[in-house]
Amino acid sequence: MEKCSLLLTAPPLVVLLVTALNPGDADPQRLPSNLTASAALKTAEAAAGAHPTAGGRAEEKKEEHLDCPPLGLESLRVDDSQIRASSSQRSGLGPQRGRLNIQSGIQDGDLYDGAWCAQFKDRQQWLEVDAVHPTLFTGVILQGRNSIWSWDWVETYKVQLSNDSVGWQTCMNGTTETIFKGNRDPETPVLGLLPTPTVARFIRINPQSWFSNGSICLRAEVLGCGLQDPADRSEHDPLSKDDLDFRHHSYMEMRKLMKSVREECPNITRIYTIGRSYMGLKLYVMEFSDNPGKHELGEPEFRYVAGMHGNEALGRELLLNLMQFLCKEYLKGNQRVVRLVTETRIHLLPSMNPDGYEAAYEKGSELAGWADGRYNFEGIDLNHNFPDLNNILWDAQEKAADASKVPNHYIPIPEYYTREDATVAPETRAVISWMQDIPFVLGANLHGGELVVTYPFDCTRDWAPQENTPTADDTFFRWLASVYASTHLVLSNPDRRVCHYEDFQSHNNIINGGAWHTVPGSMNDFSYLHTNCLELTVELSCDKFPHASELPAEWENNKESLLVYLEQVHRGIKGVVRDKVSRQGIADAIIKVDGHAHDIRSAADGDFWRLLNPGEYKVVVWAKGYFPSMRRCRVGMEPRPTICDFTLTEIPAQRLKEIHAKGGRVPQDHQLRVRALRLRKLRASTKAINRRREKQQLQPRGGSMKN
Ligand SMILES: [Zn+2]
Repeated sequence: MEKCSLLLTAPPLVVLLVTALNPGDADPQRLPSNLTASAALKTAEAAAGAHPTAGGRAEEKKEEHLDCPPLGLESLRVDDSQIRASSSQRSGLGPQRGRLNIQSGIQDGDLYDGAWCAQFKDRQQWLEVDAVHPTLFTGVILQGRNSIWSWDWVETYKVQLSNDSVGWQTCMNGTTETIFKGNRDPETPVLGLLPTPTVARFIRINPQSWFSNGSICLRAEVLGCGLQDPADRSEHDPLSKDDLDFRHHSYMEMRKLMKSVREECPNITRIYTIGRSYMGLKLYVMEFSDNPGKHELGEPEFRYVAGMHGNEALGRELLLNLMQFLCKEYLKGNQRVVRLVTETRIHLLPSMNPDGYEAAYEKGSELAGWADGRYNFEGIDLNHNFPDLNNILWDAQEKAADASKVPNHYIPIPEYYTREDATVAPETRAVISWMQDIPFVLGANLHGGELVVTYPFDCTRDWAPQENTPTADDTFFRWLASVYASTHLVLSNPDRRVCHYEDFQSHNNIINGGAWHTVPGSMNDFSYLHTNCLELTVELSCDKFPHASELPAEWENNKESLLVYLEQVHRGIKGVVRDKVSRQGIADAIIKVDGHAHDIRSAADGDFWRLLNPGEYKVVVWAKGYFPSMRRCRVGMEPRPTICDFTLTEIPAQRLKEIHAKGGRVPQDHQLRVRALRLRKLRASTKAINRRREKQQLQPRGGSMKN
């Protein structure tokens, strides 16, 4: 039986804890003054005990090892100053880089490289973490070096523990020292459990063997429970005052939670699906509105989409939190929430890629690595899977005699994209269809793995790897991005550390997508060029899949940002385009703002929303068969839209005949026709694919949301 022969093992822990921690061992200020032996034991027992909340049996099994949360090397909860090493090859490979899932910069010799690497190749090397408080250590997670230039990982290692960083004890296996199994490749994280959970303040990872062609390099996470005084106020102060279900939800649990929100708030919610994943999981959307299920004249529609990359799990949980929050606060009469729900139709899609999420969830937040579950089941990256309309637009502008005459909005999807054999994921097809069914005005696409807000264009011109590629709405996009970034508690903290290798603080934590790295076929660009909806991307946290214990703090980090961003849908101008005689709304009228080379269209009832910064605008509205109309509309600083209605006069049939007779051309709305035709084709091919898949006995998983 393996055993750590240490200072403090689980049962005799109390005695040893009290005796071992003399004032020289730990910062006495950080030790709870009234820490009693029994209190310490209780805390340790509670920390090491079985998962208290009910879940599946399989989950309990999986969670057992991870009962103690990560100290936070990955989440940056552990500060650089808490990590030391025996030696380092250079500062870019220093101990502060020895964090699970840290990503390296591109250049060889980068200041921000992809691991801690020891200077020497011998068995005396170590990476040390100071937990600051006495901590019940339960395990270590090890990963190799992230690099495109070299392969380095540690194959076996020892673990040492200490209370003072002077005297060290090695984990023992009987009379010999325990040898932990490390990595076999650079990326897969491997969990090493201590034979016996042990209390100490410092922990060292001491490599014994490594990949023969490489150096001693590693990234790590440490699992441990802080032994805090239960009487300590911070222990009882929840990280969030909102009573929400803070944990990671599997597909079934997500459905259950959504159903419970709907039952709690039946008058303002509706659940609907927009399609299925490759494996047949339904893509559920939660709608919030005072009239769920209908578009209301003049009321703007908003969407949050999360989980397009299945392993970027925080966005999914934040949207599940947001659902619960909106429902509870509405019932309480929170005026801000009541106003939002009354004046906006809100759509929340928490999991665009549920197949990918399930793959990551299976491994868990610490062991999923950096890429497991990112792609859909077929291996498609959904954020490169939308039609590239940018190059269609740019090519047309280049070929045209007058580039300003080229339609700058509602660009149809290309013909090839509608074919049955086109590489278009079912999840992408579902979202494209959804984008056309609902006249969205504003949205955000929630990702993770960095801390920055990016805005279109994501795709650069002429295939440049990175280049600032602004849209015609660049200033408003920058406003939108700033709204989110400046209200996010971590993004807006000037003292925060960079996540991996890029410093976005010099850009105020916002960046044009193309200026970061080019992404052809992104959802943001497609949304902007194909629909009226302005959408940007939020990279929510350094850690793609934060441990459940981080979720309350992450909700607090993002709560205000999620709400204030949503409120931006009520900016700029809005109005209704009507027929002068019948007073009927005119659908698909083009709204042109002078000086903005991006038009938008009115929705089915003739209502439109044009998001704009404060200023004075000349607006021209045109619809097929009508004389155009012009108005000046002023947008103020206050956070509500200016009403700017239009009434159009039909061109009389007699007049049209005269124009034709003179050989004149009546403007045609070809664009709209082609756009609708291609969409019909895409829907038809999607249907055919679904039928074929059903025949192939690929049974859909997951039941229905009914009852
Ligand atoms: Zn992503």
